[in-house]
Amino acid sequence: MRYRDGRRSLCLSSQSGCPLTCSFCATGQMRFARNLTSSEILDQALHFRRTEPVDHAVFMGMGEPMLNHDAVLDAARQLPGLGITHRRTTISTVGWLPGLRRFVDDVEEPIRLALSLHAPTEELRSELMPVNERYPLSDALDECRRYFDLRRRKVFVEYVMLRGVNDRVEQARALADLLDPKVFKVNLIPYNPTGMYAGSTRKAIAAFKEVLDDARIPATVRLTRGRDIDAACGQLAAVAAG
Ligand code: SF4
Repeated sequence: MRYRDGRRSLCLSSQSGCPLTCSFCATGQMRFARNLTSSEILDQALHFRRTEPVDHAVFMGMGEPMLNHDAVLDAARQLPGLGITHRRTTISTVGWLPGLRRFVDDVEEPIRLALSLHAPTEELRSELMPVNERYPLSDALDECRRYFDLRRRKVFVEYVMLRGVNDRVEQARALADLLDPKVFKVNLIPYNPTGMYAGSTRKAIAAFKEVLDDARIPATVRLTRGRDIDAACGQLAAVAAG
C-alpha cells in the first residue's frame, strides 16, 4: 500500500483471524485460526517487496500483535534487513496488557507503539471492543504513559470514526481529557464501511479534529490507504490476507 506522500507502507498481519471480536472489525467476525510464525509475517513483507520497494511497516492487519508477542517482535527485529528501520515500524495493540507490559519492559529498539483506542469512555469501549472488559482503557493508558516515561517515545492513538457512535464533539472533548499531548498523538481513521457501521462524514471528522486541535492534542486524519482492497486498519478480512 502506498501513501499519497510517497511512503511505501506495509500493513502486516500477526494472526489468521482474531479472537478479540471487536464489533467494527471484519477480521473479528472471522473464525480465529492461529498465530502466524515470524517467518509467515516476514513472508508478507517479502511478498510486497517483490513488486516494489517498501520503507514503512505497521502491524495493523489481521490479529492482535500482543497476543503473538514473540513472533511479532522477532519479525519486527528483522525488518531492517528488508529496508524498514525500527523507527519506521509500528506495532499496534488494543491494550492486551500481558503483551503490552512485556513490550514496554523489553523492547529497547525504537519500534513505535500504537494503541487502538476507538472510544473515550470505558462503557462505549466495552461495547465496541469486548477486550476492554478484561483490560480496561484506563490500565492500557497507564501502561502507555509508563512506556513514554521509560522510552521517551510518543504513543500513537488509533481512533476509527464511526458515524453516530464515537464521532460526536462531546466525545472528542472526552478523548482530549484523557490524553496528555506530550505523550500521545492521535490518528483519526475514516471507517471503511463493512455493513456493520457507517463511516463518519468528512464534516464530523473535521469537527472532531478541531476539538483535539483546540486542546493541543496532535492529531491527523489518516489517508484512506487500503480502502480499495478492503484492508483499512483492523478491517482486514480473508479476502486480503495475501
Ligand atoms: S480490531 Fe484488531 S483486535 Fe479487534 S477484532 Fe479486529 S484484528 Fe482483532
